[in-house]
Amino acid sequence: MRVLITGAAGFIGSHLCDRFIQEGFEVIGMDNFITGSPDNIAHLFGHPKFKFIHYNVVNYIYLEGPVDIVLHFACPASPADYMSHPIHTMKVDSLGTLNTLGFAKLKKARYVFASTSEVYGDPTVHPQPETYWGNVNPIGPRSVYDEAKRFSEALCMAYHREHGIDVRILRIFNTYGPRMRMNDGRVIPNFITQALKGEPLTVYGNGEQTRSFCYIDDLVEGIFMASVKDGLSGEVINLGNPQEFRIIDIAKLIIELTNSNSKIVFYPPLPDDPKRRCPDISKAKRLLSWEPKKPLREGLLETINWFRKKLKDA
Ligand code: UDP
Repeated sequence: MRVLITGAAGFIGSHLCDRFIQEGFEVIGMDNFITGSPDNIAHLFGHPKFKFIHYNVVNYIYLEGPVDIVLHFACPASPADYMSHPIHTMKVDSLGTLNTLGFAKLKKARYVFASTSEVYGDPTVHPQPETYWGNVNPIGPRSVYDEAKRFSEALCMAYHREHGIDVRILRIFNTYGPRMRMNDGRVIPNFITQALKGEPLTVYGNGEQTRSFCYIDDLVEGIFMASVKDGLSGEVINLGNPQEFRIIDIAKLIIELTNSNSKIVFYPPLPDDPKRRCPDISKAKRLLSWEPKKPLREGLLETINWFRKKLKDA
């Protein structure tokens, strides 16, 4: 079996490359390193089952030979990243989705799309089931990501309905773990880096907003199962950890786990920042017999160790 993974040098993409290779797949990884890093896949270079192509999927894609599964995971994913690359973000989840879907059609491959909890916007239904249509500001600063992901979902379903492509849309909620970029702007890398450097932890707004954090290994397990299992064509599945935390409590926990003397400082809230977010994962449990296993404290400790080492090497 041969898979194409776009965004292969990214946080999630690189872990997916590892997992598919471990399972005996041949992996073709693509990335243009806008937010991904060669460091994340350096250990795979020279591996007989891994091939890397430095490429921007916004352009027409062609590869020789059979491909069984296409996983489209390329896209700046942190709010800071997608707001600093707004047009590129929209291209990779419109033209990039179109190109990868067209490629899947040509190869008669299964197609797995990395969607996001951001399709629910600032949700008015809690927790969010897949049947919820969302509450997205179409012209706000986050819309470049949210609307591109929603457009991509619509494209996946159009290819599914018109061409019978076996598509699976995975709505991925907040995920954390080793290989996140220290400066990617997301809450966990920010807080850990700040705590380790003894700098103040920057809470946006009053910190009462909530998120639910899934450890990378749990997420990758869910994505792998959703990719290889038969009978899921046209399904939309939430993947995330349903344990919900206030951001202020995450800040306090990270200060505790790093033994840091850092203080917490409050900044103005970000525009359109969702106030609550928590996945309803009953569908993933039913279809994949999957649920996250790693408790937050444990996952954070592993992530802290990884960041500590990165800071030492920097
Ligand atoms: N956040 C924060 N301080 C930071 C970074 C993020 O308080 O230094 C908050 C942010 O306002 C949001 C939550 O943490 O409410 C999660 O933000 P993140 O950028 O990680 O991802 P999002 O879930 O918004 O996509």
